[in-house]
Amino acid sequence: MAPQSPYSQLSDDDWGRLLAIGAIHRQCAGTLREFATRRAGSQILTKFRDDMGLHAPLAAKLATCPQVVEDMHLNTRSIASTLRSHPVCTPGDVTVLSSICAELSTRTLAHDDPFADIFRKCEAACAQLYGPAWSPPAFEVVARSTHPRGSTDPWAVSAGTTRQRPSGHEVCLEMCPCDFGPEVFAVLARVLLHELICHVGAGDTDKADPLSPFAEGFMDWASIHYLTGWAPTICGPYATAAILQARASGESFKAHPGTKAAREGGEDAALRLGIQHRRPAAIAQLAVDLNAARCPREPKNEFVRRVLDGTLDASAPPLSDVIDGQTSAEDLLATL
Ligand SMILES: [Zn+2]
Repeated sequence: MAPQSPYSQLSDDDWGRLLAIGAIHRQCAGTLREFATRRAGSQILTKFRDDMGLHAPLAAKLATCPQVVEDMHLNTRSIASTLRSHPVCTPGDVTVLSSICAELSTRTLAHDDPFADIFRKCEAACAQLYGPAWSPPAFEVVARSTHPRGSTDPWAVSAGTTRQRPSGHEVCLEMCPCDFGPEVFAVLARVLLHELICHVGAGDTDKADPLSPFAEGFMDWASIHYLTGWAPTICGPYATAAILQARASGESFKAHPGTKAAREGGEDAALRLGIQHRRPAAIAQLAVDLNAARCPREPKNEFVRRVLDGTLDASAPPLSDVIDGQTSAEDLLATL
């Protein structure tokens, strides 16, 4: 019998599978960048990931979390060791597999929830960023039998934020246990920070709009900005993997043409402001202040449109006054 899932919408079996693979990726964090970067062109590293995926359901049937992780640990080390002498194994594959074997040589692996661990670190950083405006969200993990975004890309993960009255927001991470490779683990911080910075921190109560250039574009740019700065704290040994996979997956998270336009418009506005004011960090803070403002989303979208068409300065207080704290974000939004 599989160990009990800590998530209400995740079956015990799926929990065991996600825990088994997640524990290995967490333990092999120092090799994650090489593993994720090289896997696309490597038959052996893809076989290694697939073999892990085949063993995970067997490990998941054990009774406790430590047993699940220990069984996965022993088998993964054995698979990696065996594959090193496979006839088509390249020197690059051997380097990755040897690093993984070295990282798995420790006697026991952490068997606590790897997803809650990443979420906790992301949430703590966001709570500091938003200060008193922050309201801690609930966290849920669900499993899908196929790629959650219906794609064939290696980032088989998605997330969404819903407003749960009266208790606040809930962030839901959607994962596919059959397709849980190093790219997915490395991009988790990017996916969660998008939900937390763009959506949980939003001061408006409007329903989600995937076409909002402010929420999905301007704020997404800010979420990437903060990921880059926070990755060493949140991700530790796989900080570079997290940043590289966030960049590499950028286009994949814009599958819908409207979302693509919203993302690109908002990002373009943020980049223009960063160049004009020569202070990208100040523009990221401005994004957070605008997002936290307790007003509808439409003036925030209008802000992005005015930046893009160059008409912002004609009607609003000077942006440098808002950046320097002499005018509030609410005051700026009230003029739009
Ligand atoms: Zn979003």
